[in-house]
Amino acid sequence: MADVIVVGGGIIGMTAAMRLRERGLDVTLWSPDAPADTVSAVAAASWYPTGLTFEPRVLAWAAATYAHFRRQARDGVPGVMVRETRNLERDGATGEPWWAPAAGRVRYLPADPPWTREVRFDAPAVEMDVYLPWLRQRFERAGGRVVRRRVDRLEEALAEAPVIVNATGLAAGSLCGDPDVYPVRGQIVLVANPGVFVSVRDLTRPSTYVHPRTRDVVLGGTFDENSWNTTPDPATRAAIVERCLTLVPELAGAPVVGEKVGLRPARRGGPRVEVEKMSGGTVVHAYGHGGAGMTLSWGCADEVASLAT
Ligand SMILES: Cc1cc2nc3c(=O)[nH]c(=O)nc-3n(C[C@H](O)[C@H](O)[C@H](O)COP(=O)(O)OP(=O)(O)OC[C@H]3O[C@@H](n4cnc5c(N)ncnc54)[C@H](O)[C@@H]3O)c2cc1C
Repeated sequence: MADVIVVGGGIIGMTAAMRLRERGLDVTLWSPDAPADTVSAVAAASWYPTGLTFEPRVLAWAAATYAHFRRQARDGVPGVMVRETRNLERDGATGEPWWAPAAGRVRYLPADPPWTREVRFDAPAVEMDVYLPWLRQRFERAGGRVVRRRVDRLEEALAEAPVIVNATGLAAGSLCGDPDVYPVRGQIVLVANPGVFVSVRDLTRPSTYVHPRTRDVVLGGTFDENSWNTTPDPATRAAIVERCLTLVPELAGAPVVGEKVGLRPARRGGPRVEVEKMSGGTVVHAYGHGGAGMTLSWGCADEVASLAT
């Protein structure tokens, strides 16, 4: 019997499993999907607390994650980099954004209309298709086990370990009857990188972002609340490319090399990270990270590990 079973192998489950194993626990992770088939693998995944509002706990998770990814980028961890980022605002804001204390040195520059200000900072960015398999390998080399398994009820895991972590993302809504969980569909387009290194984000709806990685550039995006449709839409693709070219004209003519859709596991009230005592044992819930799972991952994993031990 394991000390802890982590149910879910996206970025939230993988980081939690790693932190629990680092504390010396016998940890098994269950996931029916390979890392590449999770929503986490679709993520852009640029550090920014999209869709979240200030809460001390969220700010602490974001800050810890920022610091951890920066260390990993410095240490040459596969798939992790830091990109200078330009957030373009249109709302006339003049104060510091709530997340700024988590993001190192943040600068404020004037911007040409229609924008009212540019907020510039360095943001960790992660190529999830490289990073998630690396993380899984690290976990297994540290003695953790990964099992391909789906549950219909969380009690199935509780029958095999006294403590479980529920990191099932969008599926948590039905697995624990949480009516506040809902999908926010995101479509992205990948183009070959013509030599672009700066991330740009237009903070209006529909939000537009350009996130350069090593080989390609992620162009986004959409935030379709309550849509379960995972098929890319050609008209949406064209609109995304057009909006992104306005932001970064150097992308003109860059060949499209991919297209993805993912359903962000959003939750009214923000992520649920808390302990629930059930008749079979202890459940640590860790789901509902919406559009910011990468941004909160390592900080959240620290808290999950504390709650589970
Ligand atoms: C287009 C797009 C762009 C994004 N960009 C960013 C970004 O730039 N920055 C950022 O921070 N975030 C971004 N996100 C959000 C990010 O992808 C999510 O917040 C994150 O992936 C959530 O991780 P998770 O581990 O909770 O869920 P998931 O990755 O969905 O993992 C859930 C896991 O649970 C498992 N599971 C599901 N059902 C069951 C079951 N019945 N039994 C057992 N296991 C089960 C799955 O197999 C999977 O392993 C983006 C998302 C999208 C779609």
